[in-house]
Amino acid sequence: MNDDFMKMSIETVGTENVVQEADVVSKLSKDYYWYSPILDKKLNNKKADYVIVPDSEETLKAALQLAVNEKIPVTIRGAGTGNYGQAVPMTGGVVVDLTKLNQIKEIGEGFARVQAGMRIRDLEKNVHITDQELTIYPSTFVKATIGGFVSGGSGGIGSVTWGNLWDGNVLEAKVLTMEETVQEKVVTGEELLTYIHSYGTTGIITEVTIPIKPKTRWVQEVISFAHFHEAFEFSKIIAESPRWKKRLVSIVEAPIPTFFRPLKKMMQNHEEHLILIEIAEEDHGQIVEQALNWNGKSIHTIGAEDYRKGIGISDFTWNHTTLWALKADKKWTYLQNFFSLEKGLAQMEQIKERFGDEILFHVEWLKDRGKLIPAGLPLIKYESKERLYEIIDFFNEIGASVNDPHTYLLGAGGWNLQLEAITKKKRENDPFDLLNQEKLPAYDAVKGI
Ligand SMILES: Cc1cc2nc3c(=O)[nH]c(=O)nc-3n(C[C@H](O)[C@H](O)[C@H](O)COP(=O)(O)OP(=O)(O)OC[C@H]3O[C@@H](n4cnc5c(N)ncnc54)[C@H](O)[C@@H]3O)c2cc1C
Repeated sequence: MNDDFMKMSIETVGTENVVQEADVVSKLSKDYYWYSPILDKKLNNKKADYVIVPDSEETLKAALQLAVNEKIPVTIRGAGTGNYGQAVPMTGGVVVDLTKLNQIKEIGEGFARVQAGMRIRDLEKNVHITDQELTIYPSTFVKATIGGFVSGGSGGIGSVTWGNLWDGNVLEAKVLTMEETVQEKVVTGEELLTYIHSYGTTGIITEVTIPIKPKTRWVQEVISFAHFHEAFEFSKIIAESPRWKKRLVSIVEAPIPTFFRPLKKMMQNHEEHLILIEIAEEDHGQIVEQALNWNGKSIHTIGAEDYRKGIGISDFTWNHTTLWALKADKKWTYLQNFFSLEKGLAQMEQIKERFGDEILFHVEWLKDRGKLIPAGLPLIKYESKERLYEIIDFFNEIGASVNDPHTYLLGAGGWNLQLEAITKKKRENDPFDLLNQEKLPAYDAVKGI
């Protein structure tokens, strides 16, 4: 990196907004890629030259213009909680941390417009004041930024009802490009699909408008089952039924619950499988009653009045499940896959037959492009890369299609992204290929470009 660029950056954004200390730069060059032993090996020595933390949209724009002028690689960072190395700078250059761009612009009936660096928990607090709530958010909402979620996430709590990010959960984005002269664009409709889950390769999102809904009183509930198939079948009924209002339906196979230290004491034995749910207060009683038909027993309830007080049920779901497993034993890693709605249990039986307890099931019910799906986040006892891909191949062969979380390459991880459109957008917005280098497969490698 040339020293002049560093000096100019300091002049542009102010000394206090430039991080040069090696250990802090190193920390801000990482995310949670170490969930994957494969990514851990590949990415653990990657580091930016330094980090810029702009405190206004004007300084951000000026810093980006400087990077374009000097042809310096730029990697945008929210909170750095992504799991695939999305926020890791592959070729040095600058990491631009957006967490100081954290202001609410407007909250109206049915929408919130905010700066991209706002943490989702803070956004939620502001939305709650208006008696409204978010549609979907990741289980990392305390730390994660809304811009990072839109650019690097997929779905989370709420997705069982409202779908993933690309299902109408982003209404508008304000974006800065890396053209010769940095431009600001307002993006809506179909075009949003070239920014959602694009790892900031097509532009820098500075502002996001999301839909919000009237607030519900959510009860959190943990139900225990002696048999996994009963837990799964009952969770399916909850997920499918339009009668019950829910924002979270998760299932974990035994002995995963024993990794949840705060919940362990509530369990009678270590062979229990759990369903973890967030359900509207008015539907809660019925759920607990109906669970009895499936031999399910309520073991822990958090009333609506205690929502967001202390540890919540969602702290054990989505990729937090994997985190608890890793705390218990570093050998665990995970996969992401879609089981079949009709044949999910049969697929899981086939997997068990072949791999036994090398795989433990964790399922999140979600909607993707209008379709209800039992989405797997199974834990895998890691042996080797070869064995992991043997497992992935088997999942794919039986139709339990995998979105590979062990790659930092956009598109290789699955999610049915519009890679051609994203590639075209990158060419248009980032003609010098400065944004998040090496995350998008080479232009020519993408079919039809
Ligand atoms: C324990 C755990 C649980 C998780 N649970 C979920 C979950 O439930 N659902 C889910 O979807 N994900 C989940 N994740 C992944 C991640 O936490 C979320 O996707 C989160 O929303 C990312 O936000 P962030 O601010 O940390 O983004 P970062 O990790 O900082 O960035 C993500 C990507 O977006 C880019 N980026 C960031 N901000 C911008 C911007 N303003 N403009 C353009 N590009 C930008 C970055 O370069 C990077 O490529 C989980 C991760 C962990 C470790």
